[in-house]
Amino acid sequence: MPVTPRTSADLITRFPELAALVAYQETSWINPERLPYREALASSALQDSGLSLHSVEDATARLARFAPWIAEAFADTHDSAGVIESPLVEAAALKQALSVMMPTANAPLGRLMIKCDHALPVSGSIKARGGIHEVLKQAERLALDSGLLMHGDNYRAFEQPALREHLSRQHILVGSTGNLGLSIGIMSARLGFRVTVHMSADARQWKKDLLRERGAQVVEHTGDYSEAVEAGRREAQLHANAHFIDDESSQDLFNGYATAASELARQLAEQSIQVDAQHPLCVYLPCGVGGGPGGVAFGLKQVFGDAVHCFFAEPVHSPCMLLGMLTGEHDAIAVQDIGIDNHTCADGLAVGRASAFVGRVMAPLLSGIYTLHDDTLLELLALAHDSEGLRLEPSALAGVPGVLRVLEDSPHWQTWRQATGLGTPAVQANTTHVVWSTGGSMVPRDVWEEEYQRGKALLARRR
Ligand SMILES: *Cc1c(COP(=O)(O)O)cnc(C)c1O
Repeated sequence: MPVTPRTSADLITRFPELAALVAYQETSWINPERLPYREALASSALQDSGLSLHSVEDATARLARFAPWIAEAFADTHDSAGVIESPLVEAAALKQALSVMMPTANAPLGRLMIKCDHALPVSGSIKARGGIHEVLKQAERLALDSGLLMHGDNYRAFEQPALREHLSRQHILVGSTGNLGLSIGIMSARLGFRVTVHMSADARQWKKDLLRERGAQVVEHTGDYSEAVEAGRREAQLHANAHFIDDESSQDLFNGYATAASELARQLAEQSIQVDAQHPLCVYLPCGVGGGPGGVAFGLKQVFGDAVHCFFAEPVHSPCMLLGMLTGEHDAIAVQDIGIDNHTCADGLAVGRASAFVGRVMAPLLSGIYTLHDDTLLELLALAHDSEGLRLEPSALAGVPGVLRVLEDSPHWQTWRQATGLGTPAVQANTTHVVWSTGGSMVPRDVWEEEYQRGKALLARRR
């Protein structure tokens, strides 16, 4: 049932936290439904989800089977032998620079690290994990069913004309604000699929141009993300041999994202960084519809259990997951229903209605969600460049303030720290904070430069 203005006022009475959302204030929410990991595993939310450790391992194995082909098809994966991975780097200079934004920080900040998914090969964003996995799974299934590929074959077979010809009769469709379209479009076109990307009005011109250049069909919409997804879904129903990649409910996307957890665990171990109750891991993930951050968080909980605390970050103009989880309405409510406009410069995060599938799975797992102004994202974009030399898109900065939020002096964060063991300066000093930097390496220089200059101007005003 749609939420009307009348029920919207009722909602604010029932959930006083919504007042800050409606007023576009930066806010943070600690998830009251989170459970100790063992209990979470046994909860109906996870038991009924169809997800498992096995499904994540299955995705990891599939990506490994395709690696020999990927290494040949994408030059930027040559050095990693076709493995689509991103670096994990310490960000001591950014940690230092953050004191400009929070001069009152008195708690020890611990170690600040960046998981550089902006530098992922093939499509330069976190979507290179989920989106690519689903396209590969589809290609593998079609190839095996046709008999043109056998179990155990080298997947370089995907370069063979007969297989490409077979895939060219298949149609992949997706709706996107930009980055998912890029990852699906680039990978599908390279495999030989016919591919159509339905794009929302806020999608950047350069993303559309790049997709067309790679051989994808782009359909432009005047509406937002939800409209683009709906149009893609409708078109897929009209064609035989069509596969619609459903950003709102696909487990294949989700499992592709979740493979990042074992990669992070390996990288932490390689850098001799301990993770346990005395050395907690806090991870901050920018959230749009929820699949990317949800998949990563799901994988991380499997690996680290109660030692990892996962937070989502959303723009004040698009707090869809916060609205859905807080009210328990999930996809039955959109930010527009309570008068929020869904207009943000963070195009990967410009989503008004969250995935219900992800919200339900996250209920017993997620530690919390916070929101932030577009201006904060732009300031951080400039700060991340000047301190660490990073070139990120605005969405990718949303994780950065998380480290300041969890150490805030307010009563609700103090209570959270006491409850989770982060209450003492010793444990705070031993905490590793990982900011998930979700996109940016493919942004054209002039587009990035303009955002950087806006961020610089905002920072100058602050000083
Ligand atoms: C898509 C995207 C996200 C969020 O992923 P969702 O699955 O939509 O929640 C975050 N950052 C960037 C840059 C993205 O493109």
